[in-house]
Formats: sequence, C-alpha cells, structure tokens
Amino acid sequence: MIRTFCGATVKAVGTARPIKEVRRLHSSYDVAVVGGGIVGLATVRELILRHPTLSFILLEKEKELAVHQSGHNSGVIHSGIYYTPGSLKARLCVRGATLAYEYCDKKGLPYKKCGKLIVATEQEEIPRLQALYERGMKNNVRDLSIVDAEGIREREPYCRGIMALDSPYTGIVDWRMVALRYGQDFEEAGGTVVTESEVNDICSAAESQAGSTEGMKYPIAIRDKKGREVRCRFVLTCGGLHSDRLSQISGCSSEPRIVPFRGDYLVLKPEKHYLVNGNIYPVPDPRFPFLGGPLHSEDGRECLALSPNAVLAFKREGYKGVRLQRPGLCRRSLVQGSSEAGDEEHCVRDGRNVSRDFHWCTGQNPAEVHPRTLAE
Ligand SMILES: Cc1cc2nc3c(=O)[nH]c(=O)nc-3n(C[C@H](O)[C@H](O)[C@H](O)COP(=O)(O)OP(=O)(O)OC[C@H]3O[C@@H](n4cnc5c(N)ncnc54)[C@H](O)[C@@H]3O)c2cc1C
Repeated sequence: MIRTFCGATVKAVGTARPIKEVRRLHSSYDVAVVGGGIVGLATVRELILRHPTLSFILLEKEKELAVHQSGHNSGVIHSGIYYTPGSLKARLCVRGATLAYEYCDKKGLPYKKCGKLIVATEQEEIPRLQALYERGMKNNVRDLSIVDAEGIREREPYCRGIMALDSPYTGIVDWRMVALRYGQDFEEAGGTVVTESEVNDICSAAESQAGSTEGMKYPIAIRDKKGREVRCRFVLTCGGLHSDRLSQISGCSSEPRIVPFRGDYLVLKPEKHYLVNGNIYPVPDPRFPFLGGPLHSEDGRECLALSPNAVLAFKREGYKGVRLQRPGLCRRSLVQGSSEAGDEEHCVRDGRNVSRDFHWCTGQNPAEVHPRTLAE
C-alpha cells in the first residue's frame, strides 16, 4: 500500500496475512496480544525484541492493521505540556515524543517538527497560559518558551494573539504508517500476525487431554468469533475503543469504561495552506475540556482545520458524521474520540488469571506517543 506524507511517498509495510494463510493458528504461544492498533503493535514489537526466544501472536479483528484510532487521529507528536507533573501520562508522553522521533529517523519515516503555538487572544487567558508553561517546564518539555504578539507573528504571520506558549518540539506524523512499521519489525523478528480474528472469549484452558505434551504450560485459551482457539501463557489486550469489553470478557473489570465521542474536522483547501505553518491551539478552557482542537498544517497532505465539536457517538467505530461547510474549508472524513479515563488510568491492569492477563485500557490523547514507553 502506498501512502504519502510530508511530500514523501512511503510504502506502508507490515500488512498482515489473512487468517487462512497462517499455519500456526491452532498452536500455542508464550504471549498473545489482542488488538492490532499502534499500542498492540508497539508492545508486541518491544516484547519480541526483548525476548526473542519466546513465541508471540497478535490477533486483530479487522482485515488490516491500525484502521481505527491509530488510523483516525490528528497525527500530532505531543510534547507533554498539559499533563499533571509526575503523572504517568506526563512521563510517557515526554519520553514517547523522543522515542517517536528517534524511531522515525532510524527507519527513514517522514515527519515534520513544525512546532505548536498555544495562543491567548484575551487577557483573562494569560494566567492559564502561564500555568501551562509552568506545567510544561516541570514535565521537562523541550525548548518551551512564552512569546508575545510579535513572536506569534514571526512564527505564524496569519495568527493574531496577545501571548503564546511556543513548543517547537511538537510535530506531526502519519501514526498509521508508524504502526504498520512496528508490525513489520514484529514479523521480521518472527512474530505471527493474524487478521480477521475477533476475539470473543478469553478464559482458563480446560485440563489438557491425555497424551498431550503441552500439559498446563499454556493455561489461557483465546477464542475468536469463528470458533478458533489460540493457547498462551500470557495475554495482553490492547483493544482501543473495545478495551473495556476485552477486559470484561476475560472476567476482569470493565472500568474505566469507554465512552465514545466523535470529533468533526474541517480541512483547509490547498489554496489556503499558506495560512498555517505549524500547530495552532487555543488556551484550553476547563469548562469545555473536549473542545479547542488544533489548526495544523500537514505539508504534502491536507491542512487540517479545527475540530470544533465533540459529540457523544452512538457507535464506537462510526466515522460518518454531519456535513460541515465553511468558506475555504472542505469536509474531511470524520474521526472518533473516546474515553473517560483519568490521568493515571491509561495503564496496564493485572487481570484475574494471577497476573497472566493484562489489559491496556486506552483512552484518548496522546496514546500514540505512549506505546513505545508503555512497551518498555
Ligand atoms: C479524534 C482523535 C484524535 C487523536 N489525535 C491524536 C494525536 O494527534 N496524537 C496522539 O498521539 N494521539 C492522538 N489520538 C489518540 C490515539 O489515536 C489513540 O490513543 C491511539 O491510536 C490508540 O491506539 P490503540 O492501539 O489503543 O487503539 P486502536 O487504534 O483503536 O486499536 C485497537 C485495535 O484493537 C482491535 N480490536 C478491538 N477489539 C478486538 C477484538 N475483540 N478482537 C481483536 N481485535 C480487536 C481493533 O480492531 C483495533 O485495530 C487521537 C484520538 C482520537 C480519537
């Protein structure tokens, strides 16, 4: 599959084989990972690189990898400004940004370190902007500074504001491309990827049959909707918008529960691309925590205009939404937001099987800079 980003043409690699071609599906593995989004792929990649003598399988319900959140997002490499200092999110995000850049450099994947301005347009926003600056500094976000109206104009000639937080370390990347590359690394290291395998049961395996050589070495049975079974010693679920359900079917808690939100995006027409150089954000308003999306440029692709709304979605994977039209803007396919997890809740949970099943309960941003750090 060929994709373009930042003007470059990239061969998206790591596409999975259809299930029928996988010979070892009915076999046993040391570790099974459920969910082929960026979190599952980064995790299984890191695991196999660290433990090359173990056997790994990744199960994904769709035909292709990374087609949900990991393929429907704003593509920002967040630098870690917003999160509570010392929290898991803050630590993962800051380190994750560095790892993301390093990985893209190593693999020759295109990205753009185009920076980010959080712009105050009203005097009353300035204390909140300064508080964000202090947070960012405590989180060790690189190269952060406060700029005045002139500094804003220098960076974004068509943007007006009275003060801004400048984060030049923020960038943009095609996260799906990164996820597929993780998948390729995993397969090259000997891992097995199976698509079109929707897991609907995770349980302790029954007693092994007489004559079995495997004994209870692989006590966990994972079954998919087609009735196929994989056995393993450990299972990690990375189900994104279905992470609560996967946790529940294994007998664990469904908390934190996923609450789907859909964000409607508008796309700047090519003739208006000159208006934006990097990412431009408003100062977050605590009264509207889901609102205030970015205006950002994706050189070589479209320019995204802000995501003006966040509406409760009735489907977890429904990407069709309302029609939005503005002069100079055209509609883009709509993406879906999610989750009500708090600062420390985006974490791996021990499951019921005496630490044999783990559930990564993902929520919203910025999980994509987490996966490498989570995997570590
Ligand atoms: C609107 C929006 C904008 C965002 N913008 C950014 C951004 O700019 N920067 C950033 O860092 N992050 C961003 N994020 C967050 C980021 O996209 C997600 O946190 C990340 O993609 C989550 O990855 P994941 O692998 O957990 O989930 P997903 O990509 O959703 O992957 C989960 C996978 O599990 C599979 N699955 C589910 N159930 C089963 C099952 N029963 N059996 C088998 N497979 C199953 C699904 O098919 C899917 O492929 C954004 C998110 C949204 C919604």
